[in-house]
Amino acid sequence: MAAVFLAGGAGYIGSHTAVELLNAGFEVIAADNFSNSSPESIRRVEQITGKSAVLYEADIRDRKAMTEIFRKHKIDAVIHFAGMKAVGESVQKPVEYYRNNLDTTLTLLEVMREEGCSKIIFSSSATVYGAENPVPYTETMPRGICSNPYGWTKAMTEQILEDAAKADPSLSVILLRYFNPIGAHSSGMIGEDPQGIPNNLMPYITQVAVGKREQLTIFGNDYPTPDGTCLRDYIHVVDLAKGHVCAANYILGMQGVEIFNLGTGRPYSVTEIVDAFERVNGIKVPHVYGDRRAGDLAEFYANAEKAREILHWETTLTLEDMCRDSWNWQKQNPNGYR
Ligand code: NAD
Ligand code: UDP
Repeated sequence: MAAVFLAGGAGYIGSHTAVELLNAGFEVIAADNFSNSSPESIRRVEQITGKSAVLYEADIRDRKAMTEIFRKHKIDAVIHFAGMKAVGESVQKPVEYYRNNLDTTLTLLEVMREEGCSKIIFSSSATVYGAENPVPYTETMPRGICSNPYGWTKAMTEQILEDAAKADPSLSVILLRYFNPIGAHSSGMIGEDPQGIPNNLMPYITQVAVGKREQLTIFGNDYPTPDGTCLRDYIHVVDLAKGHVCAANYILGMQGVEIFNLGTGRPYSVTEIVDAFERVNGIKVPHVYGDRRAGDLAEFYANAEKAREILHWETTLTLEDMCRDSWNWQKQNPNGYR
């Protein structure tokens, strides 16, 4: 049984990935400083799967703590989720974002080298394609100019991992470029638990639906898209999590660096998301149209062919599943894990 270390594993995508890895027979060891999560998520992962996972409270930048974990467990591969991810906050606090998101990676790479672990999968983002590349984005396109420090931490981390693999041919790297993960586990027991006012569309919608926020502001309806609102490639977090299982299996037998888009390839507009949410759940989401949000692109979506061909991964869950499961999680956990 291969063992996977989930850095930042108690978070939204990490916890869903933990479920799928355990179900696929992997051993899961996670560490998190709970700066944006709660240990409760991994407890619920264990309830969902009926299997146990090891969870450490630790900062991934803490070399001593990481070394202890790598000595205690024979870790076959690392999945690096740990990072701060709020785009707007990254503009206000660039130094904190570069410090956390780059140091976590550098510490992992040093400890992995010292302790003999040579496989790392990184949570990157479609944001690294920047505004210059035409849609759909394909992995062979060059990275573009990012519009905020968060995006640059993803682009820089990709570069660091590529350089590390070039210098050390025994190191294998997979860069997973996520599109827009939404949804939750179908049990409603784990899901996205944003602190404070949500930045992202779906948690904002669910908080309006549950009565925590008055109305949704749709950022701009004058974009050059069919209904004037932005188009994005929304992917169910459980499909995304299964993509990590495929990547974990693949990296065990691969050399070098591979990049995979994890998206559906099918974009939806903001209005389509709101309409689908209302229809599927039979609940109104009061909304108004407001100004464009700085830095937003009119549209982006994935060419998802490479992951299909090489990882044998494809998405199966629909927009309806995403809307139903997001609402199910919010309804059952109006205050998240608290
Ligand atoms: P999340 O905030 O729920 O999970 C990240 C986890 O990392 C949190 O549990 C947080 O407490 C932890 N963490 C942060 N810094 C840490 C540190 N120094 N030491 C230990 N733990 C630390 O976010 P998520 O949505 O699950 O995202 C996971 C990864 O995927 C992030 O790197 C994020 O940037 C990336 N990503 C997310 C999205 C998205 O829309 N959710 C899209 C593209 C990429
Ligand atoms: N959006 C919106 N209102 C909100 C949050 C988001 O209209 O309160 C829009 C946003 O402009 C974008 C889409 O929803 O077009 C998805 O935004 P999100 O922040 O979830 O992801 P991103 O576009 O940053 O990848």
